[in-house]
Amino acid sequence: MAEPGYRAVSRRDSRSLVGYKHACHVMVYAPDPGKLFGKIPLRYALLMQMRFDGKIGFPGGFVDLRDGTLEDGLNRELSEELGCDPKTLCIAEIDYASSHATEALPQKVVAHFYTKKVSLEELHKVELRAVQAKDHGREVMGIIRVPLYTLRDGFGGLPAFLTNTFIGNAKEQLVSALRTLRLLNEAELQAAVSASRVG
Ligand code: AMP
Ligand code: MN
Repeated sequence: MAEPGYRAVSRRDSRSLVGYKHACHVMVYAPDPGKLFGKIPLRYALLMQMRFDGKIGFPGGFVDLRDGTLEDGLNRELSEELGCDPKTLCIAEIDYASSHATEALPQKVVAHFYTKKVSLEELHKVELRAVQAKDHGREVMGIIRVPLYTLRDGFGGLPAFLTNTFIGNAKEQLVSALRTLRLLNEAELQAAVSASRVG
């Protein structure tokens, strides 16, 4: 499922696209056995961030392929945005999920997406470091956890979260990762996506 204007491309083919900037972003997540109000299973802690432009996106950013691999560039961005070193969080080619190209203005971009499963303890360390990061309070206004449950009213939780404004194709990256990694079952995911459209 690609956002209008975004088309899936292979990692390899994306390298031969002329005049495109490359961006890499990652979804860090961890199984979370906790329960909200002692009863609603949280399932996973999953990180996104509030950006400087008021939109929600994943940590990461533009990478310059002349400076190394996509993953080198992504890890550099993560050290600026999350304040993490490769010991806290290191993204490798094995974490690669997808690439989508867009000609939408202001520039042609290939958005590469990664997913990284860590322990809840490791994820919490990432959160703690994030407020100390260089970009905190500037390009990044704060790291957030995505609510993956739906409350009894059928809207609170993930549906309400999905009504936010997202950068680029971040919302589609989120929904397709939830599906592909089976973090939510299909029926629940579809119900949340439909409920978010109704408001
Ligand atoms: P950034 O430096 O984080 O703003 O990322 C560079 C560009 O990548 C953004 O301006 C968006 O056009 C694009 N982009 C595509 N997908 C995402 C995403 N999931 N999160 C953030 N930016 C994205
Ligand atoms: Mn960024």
